Amino acid sequence: MNVLIVYSHPSPTSLNAALKDTAVEVLEKQGHKVKVSDLYKMNFKPIADLDDFTAIKNSDNFSYISEQYHASQNRTFSKDILDEQEKLTWADLVIFQFPMWWTEAPAILKGWFDRVFAYGFAYGPGAYDQGNLRGKKAMLSFTTGGKDLRNFGKNHLKGELSERLFNIQHEKLYFVGMDVIEPFVFTAGIDEQGKKELFKQFEERLIHIESAPVIPFRPVSDYENGKLKETTYS
Ligand SMILES: Cc1cc2nc3c(=O)[nH]c(=O)nc-3n(C[C@H](O)[C@H](O)[C@H](O)COP(=O)(O)OP(=O)(O)OC[C@H]3O[C@@H](n4cnc5c(N)ncnc54)[C@H](O)[C@@H]3O)c2cc1C
Repeated sequence: MNVLIVYSHPSPTSLNAALKDTAVEVLEKQGHKVKVSDLYKMNFKPIADLDDFTAIKNSDNFSYISEQYHASQNRTFSKDILDEQEKLTWADLVIFQFPMWWTEAPAILKGWFDRVFAYGFAYGPGAYDQGNLRGKKAMLSFTTGGKDLRNFGKNHLKGELSERLFNIQHEKLYFVGMDVIEPFVFTAGIDEQGKKELFKQFEERLIHIESAPVIPFRPVSDYENGKLKETTYS
């Protein structure tokens, strides 16, 4: 498989850097081809603006989404966006490696989605099971601050982890048509023995990545007017 790792951490000596390096090593050993987008090292611009296009369709009444569509039709994105889109086109699997910050991904990764998952390229006119990145897989691999996940769950302090991740896993990755593999969560506050065990589990996940379980998001045909059809409740 061709694997793209989109890595978002400012420190090359961090736990996230070690997880990214582990992923590269294990995946290459398995015979996969790996590319890394190291967003901080690339000084990736996270802000979506007019500079994202080399030709503007309507500068008098600038609409970012309309310009994205125009740039998708004409390949008139800025080079940094085109480079990332080329890597995405190449990839069969995209792994996102990042620390959980304020219960989300770091802002630099949000900017990557805003600019790279462009209308006309990643989705549109269809979305969800009609998105343009159908056939590709994606997986979140992220670290949290605590020693375990006790604060996550139904009626727990932070609610269900899957609900916290819905915004990325469903509303971005599944939206553009990707199959989303169950996330790998590394609790950074765990003791040394626990960290060793989690690294081992991470390596196992990567070795068997091609058969890793995918989240069973519902097809859009299960919904009517944006709401789950009564016949599909379970
Ligand atoms: C702005 C901000 C918001 C945050 N919001 C949240 C939040 O909403 N929810 C939440 O849970 N947490 C939150 N945190 C905490 C954050 O998730 C953790 O600090 C982060 O996940 C740790 O990852 P890291 O790569 O930065 O770890 P590091 O700080 O690099 O390392 C964490 C631990 O792992 C050790 N370590 C590093 N490398 C290795 C290695 N190779 N092998 C073994 N051990 C190693 C380090 O010594 C350290 O003990 C937030 C932090 C920030 C800065």
